[in-house]
Amino acid sequence: MSAQQPTVLVVEDEPAQREILSYNLEAEGFRVARAEDGEQALLLVEEEAPDIVLLDWMLPNVSGIEVCRRLKTRAETRNVPVIMLSARSEEVDRVRGLETGADDYVIKPYSVIELMARVRAQLRRTRPAAVGERLEYEDIVLDSETHRVTRGGEALKLGPTEFRLLSTFMEKPGRVWTREQLLDRVWGRDIYVDTRTVDVHIGRLRKALCQHGGDDPLRTVRGAGYALG
Ligand code: CA
Repeated sequence: MSAQQPTVLVVEDEPAQREILSYNLEAEGFRVARAEDGEQALLLVEEEAPDIVLLDWMLPNVSGIEVCRRLKTRAETRNVPVIMLSARSEEVDRVRGLETGADDYVIKPYSVIELMARVRAQLRRTRPAAVGERLEYEDIVLDSETHRVTRGGEALKLGPTEFRLLSTFMEKPGRVWTREQLLDRVWGRDIYVDTRTVDVHIGRLRKALCQHGGDDPLRTVRGAGYALG
């Protein structure tokens, strides 16, 4: 199970370009959702909750700019990074001028290596654990590349589910996660797991975090869910 894998939504109406881009993203370890026009893109944003959107400027029906504008005006999608792909530099200038809120712009034909670097740069900000960053919270250090966790310098033993739970919490300390949100993020959207399973693994994570002593850093928020700190 690799629910920590970030999901990239590729919005591109040219089938060949869509496939090449998706192929490269999958080879880099990303989960890919594909949309061939703006309407489908907006639907998939709701269904797949992507971590980042690669958005072609010229699309049939709803244009890339309009899709971007809508994503950036909705509270639920505002923080999802959008990289606009455009055929001409004049278009990129126009995108900038329009202030659609796109986070980055890439001109076609782009170098795949360059584009991958830009995708990672955006995800480093929003999904640091998913791209191998080292996370710290108080005396807890999580290295997502080596899968090692220490607290106060001492190694902690964690199961794979507890590791993914902790990564999720450490990406956004203080944020309250509902059980459903944790299920989506840690177990994945495609699998049915009972919400009580979340409580079981939270219990294991708490125990693991305190295995060498120290306070329980996880907070139960009555009627809402869980938070780190
Ligand atoms: Ca196009």
